[in-house]
Amino acid sequence: MRPLLFHNFSGRNLPDYARHEFDSMLVENGLVVKTGYQLPAHHDMTAVDLKGATVLAAFADAHVHMTQTGIALSGIQLEPTTSLTQIFELLAAEATANEFVLGWGLQETRLKERRLPTSAELDAVAPKNFVWVARQDLHSAVLNAVALKWARTLLPDLQAPDGLIRGNDYNRLCYCLIDKLPQAFKRKGLELVQQHCFKHGVATIHALEGSLESTEDTLAVAEFSKASDLHTVIYHQSSDPAMPHQHGWKGMGGCLLVDGSLGTHTAALHEPYQDAPDCRGNLYLEAADIEKLLTTARQNQLHLALHAIGDRAIDTVASTYAWARQKWGKPAIADRIEHFIMPSDKAIRQARDNALSVCIQPAFDRYWGGSDGLYAQRLGPERATRLNPFKTMLDLGIQLAAGSDSPVTAIDPITGIAALVHHTNPDERLSLNSALSLFISEPHKLAGESLIRGQLKTGYHADFVCLDNDPFKVSPARLASLQVKNLYIAGRCVYSN
Ligand SMILES: [Zn+2]
Ligand SMILES: [Zn+2]
Repeated sequence: MRPLLFHNFSGRNLPDYARHEFDSMLVENGLVVKTGYQLPAHHDMTAVDLKGATVLAAFADAHVHMTQTGIALSGIQLEPTTSLTQIFELLAAEATANEFVLGWGLQETRLKERRLPTSAELDAVAPKNFVWVARQDLHSAVLNAVALKWARTLLPDLQAPDGLIRGNDYNRLCYCLIDKLPQAFKRKGLELVQQHCFKHGVATIHALEGSLESTEDTLAVAEFSKASDLHTVIYHQSSDPAMPHQHGWKGMGGCLLVDGSLGTHTAALHEPYQDAPDCRGNLYLEAADIEKLLTTARQNQLHLALHAIGDRAIDTVASTYAWARQKWGKPAIADRIEHFIMPSDKAIRQARDNALSVCIQPAFDRYWGGSDGLYAQRLGPERATRLNPFKTMLDLGIQLAAGSDSPVTAIDPITGIAALVHHTNPDERLSLNSALSLFISEPHKLAGESLIRGQLKTGYHADFVCLDNDPFKVSPARLASLQVKNLYIAGRCVYSN
């Protein structure tokens, strides 16, 4: 293929995205050969005019559940709904077209009625279909009678008041549901995820897939990614290192649950929930379990990623990671903690002292932060304001990168960047420069790929996004309205708006 000379743009790189660094870039065989000002075009090159766009290295999302996202993009999106009536209408329409009626993104606090639908109400809407309506945090769902009957064949003692399943039952049934859906349905979903990524300027995702019981979906994602332009770093969510070994992946684990979520009172806390005084959440993995996982990871030269949200869960993970660092020294790629929403001061120190990587979800604060948000309802305002301490961690030099936890929140770095800049706690707001880096360069550090991806420099992958406006010139209030004009992967245009 002829070398490509991109010109007429304003190219920006770390460390200072505010500065215009180059206006032309030579790309050959998918890699950046050279950047500079007014690079001369030769007759053997193809010139590509980027028409004055702001060019940044492509966005990356360090925490995606690709299979689930595909299924979610295939179902009904309930996030914009404001009443149960509206939800029932959407479900009824879907029921005429599909045996499986899957609803996603339900948030009862945004509904007029401020409650979840009941199983009986779902039966009234779609008595013969399989109906599964999941809350936005994906730790609970309401099922109709058909779905409950299926669920009870798997979990005979299932507790489901008004059809609501939650916690460990939800997690187990969710994996079974994913298994129950036909492979062709899921394969189509992966295509939808790729399209969605490209539309949002995302060239790389970290895909956290499968489970100990099921390798099928992880394999399907691996197969899909081989033929796809989207760069996919895969984590198989299991304690078994066989798959990463076989495929040459560098990490194991993923959203491997140490606890649950704050929304469902399953995040493990030291002190009880404000709105459930008898409840301190669930710790699914104890320190001894995590020690075992870390031992397996070290013996196989892998890094480990674990999900931890509540302070009790994060303390357990951070101190066990510290133990591993003492025992084996620094791993080639740092172990990861996913979410890290409610870290104690001690856990923050341990993350810094042991050079852990923390994968945050900026949009969580946007959805659930603030004095009247879900976090404050669950924990009271005092604990809630201390959640997601992004700036505190960054100032201490902790390695942070950002992700969406899609389908919990959408793959949409621009919204994530705006959430970082507009944190509900003014003390934890990031500069635009830091916010950009968390979605551009930093995710690659978590995967040990930062010397070839995340910047536009000689030898790096020519993955870049063209924005319609300069993020440093639009008012902060309008950041979220920035648009992706084009996405190029390996110098090839994969999306054009
Ligand atoms: Zn998680
Ligand atoms: Zn996750």
